[in-house]
Amino acid sequence: MHRLARLDLQYVWHPFTQMRDWLRHEPTVITAGHGAVLRDAHGREYLDANSSIWTNLHGHNNPAINAAIQRQLRRIAHSSALGLANEPASLLARRLVQAANPGTRTRRSCTTSGKAPSLARVFFSDNGSTALEVALKLAHETARRTGLCRKPRFLSLSNAYHGDTVGAVSVGQIYLFRRCFTGLLFKSDAAMAPYCYRCPYNGAKPERADARAYRRCHWECLEMLDRHFAARKRRAEPYAAFVFEPLIQGAAGMIPQPGGWLRKATAIARDHGALLIADEVMTGFGRTGKGTSDNRSRETPGPTPRQPRPGTECLPLFACQHENVQPDFLALAKGLSGGYVPLAATLATESVFNAFLGEYAEFKTFFHGHSFTGNQLGAAAALASLDLLQSRRCSQARVRLEKNLSEQLDRLWQLPQVGDARQVGLIAGIELVRNWRTREPFDLRERAGIRVCEAMARRGVLTRPIGNVIVLMPPYCTTSAQLEEIVDVLRSGIQQTLPMHQ
Ligand code: PMP
Repeated sequence: MHRLARLDLQYVWHPFTQMRDWLRHEPTVITAGHGAVLRDAHGREYLDANSSIWTNLHGHNNPAINAAIQRQLRRIAHSSALGLANEPASLLARRLVQAANPGTRTRRSCTTSGKAPSLARVFFSDNGSTALEVALKLAHETARRTGLCRKPRFLSLSNAYHGDTVGAVSVGQIYLFRRCFTGLLFKSDAAMAPYCYRCPYNGAKPERADARAYRRCHWECLEMLDRHFAARKRRAEPYAAFVFEPLIQGAAGMIPQPGGWLRKATAIARDHGALLIADEVMTGFGRTGKGTSDNRSRETPGPTPRQPRPGTECLPLFACQHENVQPDFLALAKGLSGGYVPLAATLATESVFNAFLGEYAEFKTFFHGHSFTGNQLGAAAALASLDLLQSRRCSQARVRLEKNLSEQLDRLWQLPQVGDARQVGLIAGIELVRNWRTREPFDLRERAGIRVCEAMARRGVLTRPIGNVIVLMPPYCTTSAQLEEIVDVLRSGIQQTLPMHQ
């Protein structure tokens, strides 16, 4: 066993990991990375098929981001944002506000309507959970101070995941992750999330296609959402805010929303006066590509923009922008620094900001802040990442990768173990089933997803399953040959691990 593996086994406690299982095997110790490739302590190479848990955008060891961090290091790594300002954090805040308000006149945005930005203020923190925690605290207090509700309560979606801090878990709806912390959590409600493949209201028989494309329903999920809001309103206790991941729920199992759902759901929430908290920790920074890939859906996702020449599109950076949804809070992390260093941001509207203004002695201050808030190295990395992201080269690479991913996913329908293969931009979830004709799932105790990923790792492709769903979310620099290899390895991993005779 490599000495670094022994070191890990002796001292490190890994997240979301049954450590008894972990301690039985030599762990893979990553020592280097380049582009879409990771190298371990034994010199073996792997394709990073989930972008190091959905964080990396431009590949590892990217020269532009490396240089930006090195430049910043020569000046200073960190200074406190409590009582002090710094250049990279201020520049980044401006860039984020510009990117989050694409209708605003900016140097880099596509359109120039001159509309006032609605997400106007940036609160920095360190990770996705704290980005959400900040949004929840701000929404809670804004709702109280503006008289929207006396006892603010949140509505989120079934199976939602928004992080691991106590507030984020409170609005998370994955029972397994919340059950032992119940005593620590505040109450929230869960509305039915669209999950076309397993929706009880979807009258369609399974086909060999993304379930959103052939669903037969009457948007019952939206009716239920409306009922939640109406019930609270009748009790004169409207919801303070609706918390959601736009276009696709990640940790819930890569569950995409049918085209139009986001626009309609957020319109319902707005009609009932709720604030909108968009969690784009996973979906942000170009991950959702050109659209929902739900192109056969009967609903169109809002006004169709003029079609630019292929490869020259100014792609939306955020999922909300696909359906012209403007939230009151936008939570960002993971890809914010290109996946390089822990950095997060919560964007809020000017009216939220104003609710915290007052005389010192009124103590309306937002009493929240982390030691590394506005970290200079992180902000420098994020600025370099945004430069790359907004370059034509990166847009073209993303368009290509999205198309390649769609073509590669098509090859998976030949496998009877694949029940649903769904894609939103540069994110794919492949749901493995015992019987695709009946949608019968594998029992979770069979560890079907885990076993397939273990087989893939042995053949040099790394990703992590969510139950029976295999996630593919490669860095934007992944070549078509690398993507083909990822899907080849996935196919053979499924065939070897879950042999079937149908
Ligand atoms: N929100 C979403 C949608 C996420 O996917 C995650 C992490 N997977 C989080 C919040 C929490 O982010 P972090 O792990 O950085 O705390």
